[in-house]
Amino acid sequence: MPNWVYNEVEIAAPLTEVQAYLFETDDPESTTGGKTHYFNLRQLFPERFEAGDERGLQAWDYDWMLEYLGSKWNPRIDCIAEVEGDTHLGFDTAWSAPNALLERLHALTGWKIVNRHDEESPDYDAVFTCEDGRSSDERLPGTSTCSNCEDRCSSDDMDEDYGECPICVKGRDNYLVTIEPDGAAIINTGESGSADLHGDVVLGVFSARSERQAMLLSSNEIPAAAKEGWDWYNDPEGFGLRAYKLASTDEEEEG
Ligand SMILES: [Zn+2]
Repeated sequence: MPNWVYNEVEIAAPLTEVQAYLFETDDPESTTGGKTHYFNLRQLFPERFEAGDERGLQAWDYDWMLEYLGSKWNPRIDCIAEVEGDTHLGFDTAWSAPNALLERLHALTGWKIVNRHDEESPDYDAVFTCEDGRSSDERLPGTSTCSNCEDRCSSDDMDEDYGECPICVKGRDNYLVTIEPDGAAIINTGESGSADLHGDVVLGVFSARSERQAMLLSSNEIPAAAKEGWDWYNDPEGFGLRAYKLASTDEEEEG
């Protein structure tokens, strides 16, 4: 398993222009005929990659890629968006950031390009900037991806138990749901962990992820199937998530 580097690239050009340097192809991980994007290496390095080898698989060479891309593989781009006239690309690369590739894109277009990416120490992010024919590196306090909403936030603010940003952790506190042995559910608005999880009355406590999820549980009888094989001492969250899934299936069936 490689060590993945998260890259967030901002290009000072509209997406319609940046698209000339991207390559769209069928997504091998999609079962519904979805598309995915890579950098168009034929467009960026026509001296090495022939037409038909836009992804750079045929002329691939480890040393060449490290020198001219800065990374072992042409990355699969997970996230493409235009914000206020600038193009944003989000993707992971194996081991290192593809800053040499971005330098090439800057040399060809003159666009200002900023790549904020992970570095070895999680306490810092590296910021690589190409502007006016020059490139520079800078270090900023680290950010990480929230496991719930996938926003980036300061690593210091990230909740260690859930790997979530402060907003998502707050969401948990607001909609704490208590399950009683008779199947009733009560919404508490207390702090996570403030209820007596192993008490006589309360069968399980978990935190819902949204107001809708909490309401669903509080207004539905908890399906018996949610309790089958459930270890409530060790896995109170598991019960909540299964109960929610079953409750939301019922709702869809009823239309
Ligand atoms: Zn979040």
